[in-house]
This record gives sequence, C-alpha cells and structure tokens, in this order.
Amino acid sequence: MSDVPKTHPRYLSLTLRDKIVRGVEQGITSIHGLIAHGRGEAFDYLIAEKTQHFATAAIHAAAVMLCLAKHPVISVNGSVAALVPEDLIELGQVLNAPLEVNIFHTETGREQKIKDHLLKHGAKEVLLPSTEAALDYIDSNRKFVHPEGIFKADVVFVPLEDGDRCEALRKMGKDVVTVDLNPMSRTAQQASITIVDNVVRAVPLLVDQIKKISDKTKAQTLISQYCNRTVLEEALKHIRRGENI
Ligand code: ATP
Ligand code: MG
Repeated sequence: MSDVPKTHPRYLSLTLRDKIVRGVEQGITSIHGLIAHGRGEAFDYLIAEKTQHFATAAIHAAAVMLCLAKHPVISVNGSVAALVPEDLIELGQVLNAPLEVNIFHTETGREQKIKDHLLKHGAKEVLLPSTEAALDYIDSNRKFVHPEGIFKADVVFVPLEDGDRCEALRKMGKDVVTVDLNPMSRTAQQASITIVDNVVRAVPLLVDQIKKISDKTKAQTLISQYCNRTVLEEALKHIRRGENI
C-alpha cells in the first residue's frame, strides 16, 4: 500500500486504487480492470462518492429478490475479488449461496488465483467455470459456467458485469442483480435490478438489508412495486442536475 495519510481528502479513493493495483500485482485482477476502475471513479465522483436514494431503493429490492431466490449465485470477477472479498463471502453466507468465479481474461491461471484468494479470506466453497455447462447467447469463454452454480441459478448477483453476459443471463430467463456506477452501461440497462453505487459501499449495505428481512411475504410486495427503469432515470437525473460538481 502506498503511504496515503488518512487526512488526505481523497483517502478512500486512493485506498481503492491501491487495492485494485494490488489485485493486478497478485495476479487476481486483469490489467484491463484498471481501466474499468477509472470509469467507475468518474461516475462515483458524479454521485459525490455517496450512496444516493436511488441506490438505497435498489438495495432494498435486491435484498428481497436475492432472499426469495431458490438458487441464488454470486458471480465474482477479478475486480470485485480485489475490492470486497470479505463482503462477498458474507453475502454468500447470509444467502446460503455459492460464489462462482467468472472472468473474461483467463490468462495465467487467474481463475484459480481468485478462488485461492477467496478461500484465504474465509470462503468455504468457490465454484469455477466448467466445460460441462455453457450459457446460450454468448460466444466468449465467459459462456462456461458451473453446472451446479450459475447454470442452475434463478437469480445471479453480478457486480461490475459486462453487458454481453448480463444480456445472455437475462435471455436465459435468469434475474440479474448488478452493482454498476454507470447507469448508462448495457449491464445497468439490462439487469433486473441495478444498484448505481460503488461496490465497496453497496455490498455491505446489501448484506445488512438481507439480515433485516424477517417477513418474506411482506417483502414480496416491495419487489412487485420496484421499477428498474425509473430508478435508473433517477440516477441519471441526479447526475444531470450536477448537484455534486
Ligand atoms: P457494459 O459492458 O455493461 O456496457 P462497459 O463496457 O462500459 O459496460 P465494463 O468494463 O464492461 O464497462 O464494466 C465495468 C463497469 O463497472 C463500468 O460501467 C464501471 O463504471 C463500473 N465500475 C467500475 N468500478 C466500479 C466500482 N468500484 N463499483 C461499481 N461499479 C464500478
Ligand atoms: Mg463491457
């Protein structure tokens, strides 16, 4: 870690940069992850690096959708593995859902390195993609999934996802919950629920919210009233108003 004083006005942002850089050095994050991170930072700036009301609404709905799922699965890539390993593991525990590694650039055994990284942080079981099961509607190596994981899932939590894969999952009839700071990305637009927030803030809040759900039937009403398009429009309006600039 570089020596950033806690009093630095951009302390948090610089700490996250360090985490991503460390992920690249450890061989768990692709070098392309640095570019995706930069894009995320720009959007985070536009929402004042805070969880805004549209993200809170999406987190509430996502907690219900994940709680009501029969077979929820958490898809992990090299960026989220570097940024929020413990929170993803806790999410898996509260939902009783497996973590499954799925990445685009599979160079130098990165899938196994991500798995080892999660196990080191306390994960019990981490699934890897298998050639025995594949998603339709997608040509890249990311179509390969675990037969007992994403292949079987009814709801997939896929933070920082690529648009093609999100679209394929949706076309296969699966619900997708994503975290994406860009409300205009194809992923944000196509997911069932999009949390427009930084993954480092959103995942702990999502875990807390899931722990609070006691009455699942009552919770179901909340989800039937949720409209992702409206929530994304709220996020865009917030950014357009430029309140934080
Ligand atoms: P899409 O393929 O969905 O159209 P894209 O090609 O613009 O998106 P990708 O690189 O595929 O972008 O996905 C990365 C996404 O993750 C970007 O939209 C970026 O804003 C977002 N992102 C990056 N870092 C974070 C973060 N820490 N928290 C939440 N979102 C982030
Ligand atoms: Mg993309």
